[in-house]
Amino acid sequence: ISAEDFVAKTMERIQSVDDKLHAFLSINDDAIDQARTIDKKIKSGEKVGDCFGMPISIKDNLCIKDSKTTCASKMLENFIAPYDATVISKLKKQDAVFVGKVNMDEFAMGLTTEFSAYGPSKNPWDTERVPGGSSGGSAVSVSALECVASLGSDTGGSVRNPASFCSTVGYKPTYGLISRYGLISYANSIEQIGPLTRTVKDTAFMLNLISGIDPNDNTTINNKNEDYLTGIESGIEGKKIGIIKEMIGEGIDPAVLSATKDAIAKLEGLGAICEEMSLDMVKYSVAAYYTITATEAGSNLARYDNLRYGYDFPLEGYEFNSYISKARRKFGPEVTRRMIIGGFVPSAGQAGKYFLKALKVKSKLTKEVNDAFKKFDFLISPTVPVLPFKLGEKIDDPISLFLVDINTVTANLTGKPAISIPYTISNGLPIGIQLMADSMNDKSLLQAAYALE
Ligand code: GLN
Repeated sequence: ISAEDFVAKTMERIQSVDDKLHAFLSINDDAIDQARTIDKKIKSGEKVGDCFGMPISIKDNLCIKDSKTTCASKMLENFIAPYDATVISKLKKQDAVFVGKVNMDEFAMGLTTEFSAYGPSKNPWDTERVPGGSSGGSAVSVSALECVASLGSDTGGSVRNPASFCSTVGYKPTYGLISRYGLISYANSIEQIGPLTRTVKDTAFMLNLISGIDPNDNTTINNKNEDYLTGIESGIEGKKIGIIKEMIGEGIDPAVLSATKDAIAKLEGLGAICEEMSLDMVKYSVAAYYTITATEAGSNLARYDNLRYGYDFPLEGYEFNSYISKARRKFGPEVTRRMIIGGFVPSAGQAGKYFLKALKVKSKLTKEVNDAFKKFDFLISPTVPVLPFKLGEKIDDPISLFLVDINTVTANLTGKPAISIPYTISNGLPIGIQLMADSMNDKSLLQAAYALE
């Protein structure tokens, strides 16, 4: 099959299913032409990149030069990115074809895509249910065959959560493994770009292309051009796996618990040694996560004042302060909530009670996790403690939504790599299993994930 045919078929697929699923916020009208150019290169014997003609969707908080990048926000509804994110230029060099930009919770805050200013995406397994988020459009597009792979961002689970809810693989790398240059920041000290794919091998393939040091992001780490694909079939014989007690406790859906036990039995069958263990600080992790991320969001989103970025809203007739506060009313309810929290928790008089405490939890949790990796190669848990729920079911109860993140935020707060693997389907709804490894052990994590897949 030619690149043109493959991309054309993918575009047809998007046309036929996306009305129902709403994964896409914008479509690349040049995709088929770009694929044709790749075919021409092949015909004329020119060298082509590893992705020749591979249709990829991109979360709408990643900049593609000359394309709309809205962050699913009204505040950026007319924003055309003036440059490519590093991950985008790397994939362009490999002749990937971007089929479109996909839906998300506004500024990546949320876990259902219901906070998108452009309406929610639907779970392809049951369109009355949420697809997870915030990279919901990424997971839906991969799951519903609207692309081969997608890039999302994961600040507290935003790649792994929708991957779990839509039955795709979702990967959050070691902090610094993938450049964040061109990712619109939410909470930059803990977030990472990550691939969503249909198989673990596809994730390893993507990682080979997009990871590595970047002079434009000085938090990147040198992975010495690691090849994540070779040796992926090495298995997990003799590996020690810790079962995190706090992540299979109170509030877990019985179907999720039984899938997790099943996955553990499968790993044991493959020669792994599994043992229950405890991470005490996990019980404070969600509170610490939302305190830290709101603080960072408060400062990262200060630039959206409708002067430097914004929508059409004339200045005349306003005092400066009233203009800014009126302009900022265009933010949706979740972003507004985070801005209010993000102004309060680090403020003079409150910081000691909230922000500094959250930082202490983060460092204690990191110590606990580091100690755990002296004993265990991997840690296992369900990715999300509940099954995909109905659209609208939790939208008015932010605290109950926050708690759904209990199993994913630890990897972000500690900088560790983590993967969600589609494990089973229970009564028509997907369940994902999460494996976590120590920093820079991304390669062995992918080997373990491949074994469980
Ligand atoms: N649900 C989390 C939040 O709203 C995670 C979001 C993310 O990873 N971007 O912050």
